[in-house]
Amino acid sequence: MARNDIAPTNIFNKLSIEDLNIKDKRVFIRADFNVPLDDNQNITDDRRIRSTLPTINYAIDEGARVILASHLGRPKGKVDPKYSLRPVAKRLSRLLNKEVLFLEDCIGAEVERAVKNMAKGDVILLENLRFHPEEEKNDENFSRALASLADYYVNDAFGAAHRAHASIVGIPRFIPGAAGFLMRKEIQYLKGAVESPVRPFVAILGGAKVSGKIGVLENLAQKVDKVIVGGGMAFTFIKAMGYEAGDSLVEEEMLDLAIRIMNRLRESKVKFYLPVDCVIAQSVEKGAETKIVPVQEIPKGWKALDIGPASTRLFAEVIQDAKTIIWNGPMGVFEIDAFSRGTFAIARAVADAYALTIVGGGDTDLAVHRAGVSDSISFISTGGGAALQLLEGKELPGIAVLKDKT
Ligand code: AMP
Repeated sequence: MARNDIAPTNIFNKLSIEDLNIKDKRVFIRADFNVPLDDNQNITDDRRIRSTLPTINYAIDEGARVILASHLGRPKGKVDPKYSLRPVAKRLSRLLNKEVLFLEDCIGAEVERAVKNMAKGDVILLENLRFHPEEEKNDENFSRALASLADYYVNDAFGAAHRAHASIVGIPRFIPGAAGFLMRKEIQYLKGAVESPVRPFVAILGGAKVSGKIGVLENLAQKVDKVIVGGGMAFTFIKAMGYEAGDSLVEEEMLDLAIRIMNRLRESKVKFYLPVDCVIAQSVEKGAETKIVPVQEIPKGWKALDIGPASTRLFAEVIQDAKTIIWNGPMGVFEIDAFSRGTFAIARAVADAYALTIVGGGDTDLAVHRAGVSDSISFISTGGGAALQLLEGKELPGIAVLKDKT
């Protein structure tokens, strides 16, 4: 059962939207509306839009004039209708149950006119910020032009907080900036859990490669009581221990580092768990023949693509008595049914634990939803790269730039 009674709350020392007097004022809210779209421009998952609703609704209720902006995809500084935010305006209008005026640019005379004509409680959505190359270059004039639209800046785009772009770090240099509710919640959970966890504190790491998670592993190794490593990255450790891993994903250049990490974990008395068995196949394909073998017995020509049933039981036992759990990265190639059982079983074990449970990273989020247990997780982060950077112990530029609470 997910716990929230032990969620850390006093870790966030920046101004929040509640600290601003936004009544009658123009508020520029940087949101993360980078939602997946299908070929017909239909939004296939609107969770990112929904998670910013508390901030938008608060601003409307306070009587602000709300200017929303976001990026969508990677249009590379050019106007590309494929990446238009128009579908987001439509969905947002439905979710807010009020008109959302969509503007076809994010700066310029037309935008300035529309913003000037806003009444209290009106909501405008600007077109994709990344249609201008100046956004990703953090261009000063572009930031100034965006800032000139509003009296206050609110950043609720946690998923983009690790980017030093104009709409993230540029605007708050010109007008007072604060965090939105989603941003605050993300930091409180991700940073709070790492800095003041209720113990035992367990980190579960998975996904494709050690190299992608090395920073997280090194930082968390100093804070947690137990580390579980599954997914493709486990096999670099297994190889480093002297076993053959067949054709599994092994990063040869990481073998020495893997040994150093294991030694360090042992010295600091952090318990370290690797899979003991795995599901193997000769190819990563639907319908491929599969076998379950101990990790010591992966034949040449076969790859480990999921943790096996004995590993699932072992990991579930470790998870069971944790009080704080952070999970990032699937246990196997969960996109294919034959290799999804381990990830889904771990999702259920995490959901069943009477603990503060935090899931971060795009893939793990998807796995938890597919396993049908997302309602039983204390907090699911909306940011992939940003969540990883926080878990690495790094400061996010989008947070650093906001005003401290005095
Ligand atoms: P990451 O982005 O590093 O969290 O990696 C997520 C990806 O890792 C998913 O798409 C999985 O399919 C993949 N993955 C997980 N386990 C394995 C494995 N044993 N071998 C290859 N890929 C894996």
